[in-house]
Amino acid sequence: MIDVQQIKKDFPIYENDPDLVYLDSTATALKPRRVVEKLEEYYYHYPANIFRGIYKISERATAEYEETRDKVGQFINGDREEIIFTRSATESINLVAYSLGRKIIGRGDEVVVSLMEHHANFVPWQVLCFETGADFKVINSPQEITIPMVTKAVTKKTKILAITYVSNVLGVINPIKEIVRAARRINPRIIIVVDAAQAAPHLKINVRELAVDFIAFSSHKMVGPTGVGVLWGKKAILEEMFPFQYGGEMIDEVAIGKTTYANLPHKYEAGTPHISGVIGLKEAVAYLDKIGFDEISRHERNLSAYALKRLNEEFGDNVFVLGPKNINKRSGIISFTFYDFHPHDVGHLLDEDNVAVRVGHHCAMPLHTALKINASVRASFYIYNDRGDVDKLIKALIRVRNVLGKKSVNL
Ligand code: PMP
Repeated sequence: MIDVQQIKKDFPIYENDPDLVYLDSTATALKPRRVVEKLEEYYYHYPANIFRGIYKISERATAEYEETRDKVGQFINGDREEIIFTRSATESINLVAYSLGRKIIGRGDEVVVSLMEHHANFVPWQVLCFETGADFKVINSPQEITIPMVTKAVTKKTKILAITYVSNVLGVINPIKEIVRAARRINPRIIIVVDAAQAAPHLKINVRELAVDFIAFSSHKMVGPTGVGVLWGKKAILEEMFPFQYGGEMIDEVAIGKTTYANLPHKYEAGTPHISGVIGLKEAVAYLDKIGFDEISRHERNLSAYALKRLNEEFGDNVFVLGPKNINKRSGIISFTFYDFHPHDVGHLLDEDNVAVRVGHHCAMPLHTALKINASVRASFYIYNDRGDVDKLIKALIRVRNVLGKKSVNL
């Protein structure tokens, strides 16, 4: 079982702000001391560029950077050449849309996404389709992505299916393995891109078992530094794609008449990367692995179940919880709206009680539009949250009700 009090001691923010009730890990996770110290270690002891130096501190930085690639590969069961470091999950998805999309997509082809996608896994595909004349199809999934929805949307003309593993709004964990099987039964050559930004911090990911072609995630949501993303892709596809950016580090030979490109993974890592951030990610992976993903998932699901029960006890029909009712389909994310209060008012009042939640459309406007709401309140739970945090959230929401009034109006 997760010992939250012990875990809290690893996160320096709680020393500086002991009363903080942080319920916005979906936006970004807090950082443990060992990650912060690793960044410091780089800047204090070997703040050199990688690959270029034939002196000790550059060799040390290069070794730490490449060791992170090995660790991230082991973390998701991918090969080291298949791990590309980017700036964010957003950049990882853009890389695929640009480097693969522009190579294989044309008029008459289809790209399928879902309604619940974060804009990061929606807009790059939408723009690709608009620019190439391909059909942009959206699975109507206001709660969860089911197999019949996938088999209805995917056809033999679908070249790319881009879907999220865990929705950052609905909290639903989509059945990726089953979706992949269903999609490939219709089109065995379909490329499947999974947005794992909300999965990698919470679930054990095994890219071979999922049998997908690409997954994208961000370091900062999994207690690592900001400014670092990961793209894993199947080697055979990565080798065929266009480069994403051109310049230093990604080349093999450059002449006035011709440039050849570096081997994987460097073909996709042009320029000086976020060296300290990548090195810090190694510590984040080690930290989460030590706790264990079975424990992490169980802990979050328990907190979600408790929060749903408390919300229902206290607010009953006045609160609308987004996403599936079945707790086994959910991770540690709960979005809701009150029929009577605007989410932004709720968010401001919760902040007065030092309860940090996210309000707005959470970069999922198509989903909110389909649900006929402008915004929602999102509370998300992670390893450093406990039932006490849920109780404080509920207490603060009761104050919101007292401040904003008890009248009930329908939407
Ligand atoms: N996909 C999902 C599901 C997300 O929740 C987020 C971040 N909120 C992203 C993609 C984008 O992540 P980043 O901002 O780190 O690129």
